[in-house]
Amino acid sequence: AHLDRIGAVDDQVHAFLHVDAEGAERAARAVDERRSAGEPLGPLAGVPVAVKDVLTTRGVPTTVGSKILEGWRPPYDATIVQRLRDAGTVMLGKTNMDEFAMGSSTEYSAYGPTRNPWDLTRIPGGSGGGSSAALAAYEAPLAIGSDTGGSIRQPGAVTGTVGAKPTYGGTSRYGLVAFSSSLDTPGPCARTVLDAALLHQVIGGHDPRDSTSIPQPVPDVVAAARAGAAGDLTGVKLGLVREFSGEGAEPGVLAAFRDAVDALTKLGAEVVEVSCPHFEYALPAYYLISPSECSSNLARFDGVRFGLRVGDDGNRSLEEVMSLTRDAGFGPEVKRRIILGTYALSSGYYEAYYGQAQKVRTLISRDFAAAFERVDALIAPTTPFVAFPFGSRTSDPYQMYLADLFTIPSNLYGGPAISVPCGLSEGLPVGLQVMAPTMADDRMYRVAAALE
Ligand code: GLN
Repeated sequence: AHLDRIGAVDDQVHAFLHVDAEGAERAARAVDERRSAGEPLGPLAGVPVAVKDVLTTRGVPTTVGSKILEGWRPPYDATIVQRLRDAGTVMLGKTNMDEFAMGSSTEYSAYGPTRNPWDLTRIPGGSGGGSSAALAAYEAPLAIGSDTGGSIRQPGAVTGTVGAKPTYGGTSRYGLVAFSSSLDTPGPCARTVLDAALLHQVIGGHDPRDSTSIPQPVPDVVAAARAGAAGDLTGVKLGLVREFSGEGAEPGVLAAFRDAVDALTKLGAEVVEVSCPHFEYALPAYYLISPSECSSNLARFDGVRFGLRVGDDGNRSLEEVMSLTRDAGFGPEVKRRIILGTYALSSGYYEAYYGQAQKVRTLISRDFAAAFERVDALIAPTTPFVAFPFGSRTSDPYQMYLADLFTIPSNLYGGPAISVPCGLSEGLPVGLQVMAPTMADDRMYRVAAALE
């Protein structure tokens, strides 16, 4: 049914870069066979899932939305993809994204943008716009995203779906094509909080193949989502981030957010205002740290080891081939980030830019720590604005970067954060974000499920 739905609507939505119909049918048959043989089934047996094209899938094309990896079929599965298979899910295909997960609208995909199912003239968010649009268009019931600065939560918010960024290190990065290694966090996307929790539970947990993976089991996010769904938040103290609930967001977004805060209060939560004075420096710090790490990570795309190779005619030097390949294979936003990153890391500027940004990162983490001494979780709108029309933010990079104003702090800190639909503004979805302390992913699910 989902393959039929993709066939019917995806030429309009363009959520998928690659549909693996054959692989999906094979996986579904395998589940049927196990069932008839009376063999044990995985926890999500037979449930279709769409996977952001940032995760490697054995034998199935993986492009990261970039021309530089066009045609590359990885020889191995990402840990998350392996866990999805072990859980019995049926992978439908790979979803569209901004090239190398750099962007907030999927307009920077080298394969054309994804459209928002709510209004096909508007963006579905980014970088994981494909995963969230696939959910909103009923092309898939579950999807995987990755969140470096907001790429799970912001697409969730603007498509009226749920997106959760787990605690950094709570989900494996093995097989996740790296953008900014100290921030990259794969996680679940779904249409309900409980579905996201069910997916989170099977993909999360320690992975010895990822050196930053936390050697602890996933908190019981499913039980927490179920408990939250009962709608009782008595005894839960929520902190309204003062810096993110006044100005800086569209009035319609703030109105929907305030209604949701009232609803949380009615469910028994105590809501107090909390100040996080360094959050306003999160965006500039992020745009030094993430390009710096990107400039190092993307050095491996050299035209020799993976995918595209340009100009290798036997007369050119290795350096020329490398340079021609990178010029042709990377899009403008990726080149901008590499240049920003190499500049920020260059000798003489390192302390002034990269070093300074790292200090700001520490101050932001301290804001979180201080807040969590007073409250159980923080809340804010997920994004400052609803889905915007195509082309309206591409001419000025800063306007695009602003989409992640409210999501970036929790990436710099490393704690979990989820976006849950909280109403409409001008007929378009608005998301509310719940941010929790590191490894308290269960708490975040409980609050989000209550609101739903
Ligand atoms: N939009 C942000 C960026 O462009 C975040 C991307 C992400 O989370 N992958 O870097």
